[in-house]
Amino acid sequence: MSSLKNCVIAFDIGGTFIKTGLVCPDGNLIPGDKYPTDSINLISQLLDISGILLKYACSKALTPSAIGISCAGHIDQANGKIIVSPNLSGCNNLELAGPISNKLKLPVAMDNDANMMAVGEHWIGAGKGYENILCITLGTGVGGGIIMKNSLWHGPLNMAGEFGHMTINPKGKLCKCGNIGCLETIASANGAINIAGSLGLDVQNGKELAGLAKASDKIAIETFNKVGSALGQAIANLVNILAIPTIIIGGAFSNTMDIFMPALKKELDFRLKLIDASKINIIRAGLANNAGMVGAGRNALQKIDKTIMIQKQPRNPFPTVDIIIMFNDSIVLIERKNPPLGLALPGGFVNYGESVEDAAIREAKEETCLDISGLKLLGVYSKPGRDPRFHTMTTVFIAQGSGAIKAGDDAENIMLVKKTDIPKNLCFDHRKILSDYLKVTAL
Ligand SMILES: [Zn+2]
Repeated sequence: MSSLKNCVIAFDIGGTFIKTGLVCPDGNLIPGDKYPTDSINLISQLLDISGILLKYACSKALTPSAIGISCAGHIDQANGKIIVSPNLSGCNNLELAGPISNKLKLPVAMDNDANMMAVGEHWIGAGKGYENILCITLGTGVGGGIIMKNSLWHGPLNMAGEFGHMTINPKGKLCKCGNIGCLETIASANGAINIAGSLGLDVQNGKELAGLAKASDKIAIETFNKVGSALGQAIANLVNILAIPTIIIGGAFSNTMDIFMPALKKELDFRLKLIDASKINIIRAGLANNAGMVGAGRNALQKIDKTIMIQKQPRNPFPTVDIIIMFNDSIVLIERKNPPLGLALPGGFVNYGESVEDAAIREAKEETCLDISGLKLLGVYSKPGRDPRFHTMTTVFIAQGSGAIKAGDDAENIMLVKKTDIPKNLCFDHRKILSDYLKVTAL
C-alpha cells in the first residue's frame, strides 16, 4: 500500500479561467496553476491538466483519490452534467464528470460554483462553526448557496440558492435568465456598470467604479447605494423565508462591500419587521478566490467517504488484465499516466461483455500500439492490497509483441527492459509477477 497522503484534485471552472489546486482532508489547499478556459475542448483540457496535477501531487508526496469540480452554470450534480452555462460556450448538456472519472479511474464530484463557495466557506472559511449559512457571491453575475444543518441544500428541483434571480425591481432591466429586474441586473459588477452608464457615468469594470466612489464621485456613490439597497432588500426576503441569520458575501465584486454596506444595512433595517435586524450577521467571505476550489475539494472528499461506505458492503474485486509482452528480447513496461504513478506492465480493466483474452489484446494495443500473439496464461493474482486504489484481481498473460511500439492511452512512456535488468520499484504487485515469470521461463 502507498504511504503517500491522500488529497483531492480541485478545479474551479469559470468562463475565463480554470483555477486548479490540491485539497487535503485537513482543508489545506496547495494551489496549482491557472489556465485560460477552453470550453470547446473542456474534457480533454481537464484530462491534460489532471496529468500535470497528478505529477505535482506526487512531487508533494500526495496521492489524489478523487476529483472535485466547481463549475459556473446550472449543474446536475447527481449526474455530473452541465445543464446550462451561459459563460461556457458549447458546454450546455455536457456530461463532464463521467468521462473524466472513467479515464482517470477516480471518483468525480461536481457542483455549481456558488454552491461550492458556500461549502468551502462553511468548512474552513468565514462560515466555519455555523450550522446554517447563506452565501451570496457577487461577480459578473450574482450566485448563492444555502447550508442548512451543516449540509448544502439543493432542493427537489436542484436549483436552490439562485438568489441572483429573485425579482427586486419588477420594472427593471432584462436579465440574462429572461426575467425582468433580477437582483443580478443591479448587484453584480455588470449590473452596477449598467446603472452607472444609465446615470451618465461610463466605466469599464467594477474596480474602476469603486475607485470613483472612493474619490467621492456622486454617480458612482449613487450606483453603490442602489447596489446596497437591492442587496438589503434581497437579504430581508431571504431572512423572512429561511430565518437564517448568518449571511456571507463573497465573489470578486464583494471587494466593494465597504462602499455599499451602509445602504445595505439601511434597507435591511427598513424591510425587516418581524425579525430584529440586529440579529442578522453579514460577514465578508474568508477564502477569497479559493472558496470554489476548497468547496469542490470538500465535496469530493465527502463523496469518497460515501464510496468507502459502499465498499464496506460485500462486493467482488474488479477484474483486470496485465500482459508480459516480449518485444525484441525485452519486456515491455509502461510509465503510468494515472495513479498509482510509476512503472508497470501494460494492462487495464476488463470491460463488461469482454473476455480476459480480448481485454489483454485491446489493452496491449491501446497502451503500446503493439499487436500481441501467442497468448499464454501466467496466473491470477488476487491479493487484497495488491492495488492501492481498491481490490482488483488480475489475469496475467505472456505474449509476443509485433509492430511499431509507441506509448498510448494510459501510458505516458514505454520502456524496454532485459530479463536480467528488471527495475525494483514497480506499481502494484508487478515486481512479484515478473519474478514469478522469470522462475517459469527458467524451467
Ligand atoms: Zn435573472
